[in-house]
Amino acid sequence: MSEQTIGARKATNDSPEGGHTVTLTRNALIVDGMKTLGELGTHHICNVCISYGGSCCRGCPHLADGLGCGQRNTSCTAWLCGFLKYYLYEIGVLDEWQSFWEQIPGQDYREDFTPERVDVNLAMPRTNVRHERLGLALAADLRQIEQSHVAIGFILTLREKLDKTMDQLMHCGTDRKRRIRLQRKIKMMTADFRSFHQSLDSYRSNSIIER
Ligand code: SF4
Ligand code: SF4
Repeated sequence: MSEQTIGARKATNDSPEGGHTVTLTRNALIVDGMKTLGELGTHHICNVCISYGGSCCRGCPHLADGLGCGQRNTSCTAWLCGFLKYYLYEIGVLDEWQSFWEQIPGQDYREDFTPERVDVNLAMPRTNVRHERLGLALAADLRQIEQSHVAIGFILTLREKLDKTMDQLMHCGTDRKRRIRLQRKIKMMTADFRSFHQSLDSYRSNSIIER
């Protein structure tokens, strides 16, 4: 489990260069956000979730049969479910992701009122070629867990529990004891993510060696 303090650390990316403000179009925000999620490998997790009926687009009027979303917006791009909050947290990019999107005005439910041009001074999280493998590992664990449980939708219940606990963790501020309690709880909830933990250990060891 990562020891970073959620919400307390500002993104430290040097892009936009030197912390200067850059102006991005609303469309660029959406495209960059989707690209970053793709490079982080979150689509592998989504594919498993969707295959067991957990799509967060379910019931949305903008979802066109066979075509996907017909109205991409900043709100849905920025939004994270329990799996993705947990995943981004463990791979160490949740703070940057949250900080980046906190700069973007006009986010709403399944639509946005984001202006056509927005000034930003914090960057999207950096991705690297090893991230995708982590997404694949978590997706494999989720599939295996769902298949090994008699209760249909077991992983979707887990997703909601993770979501609630991750929210508590993200808002526990400087309460160290509470943070440790919540981290332990998350560790127990995710004890069966064996491939993911294995990949994460190796990812973290390699990251230390490369520093
Ligand atoms: S709920 Fe989460 S994992 Fe499932 S499809 Fe939506 S973003 Fe992906
Ligand atoms: S607007 Fe959001 S919830 Fe609706 S289909 Fe698009 S991405 Fe999914």
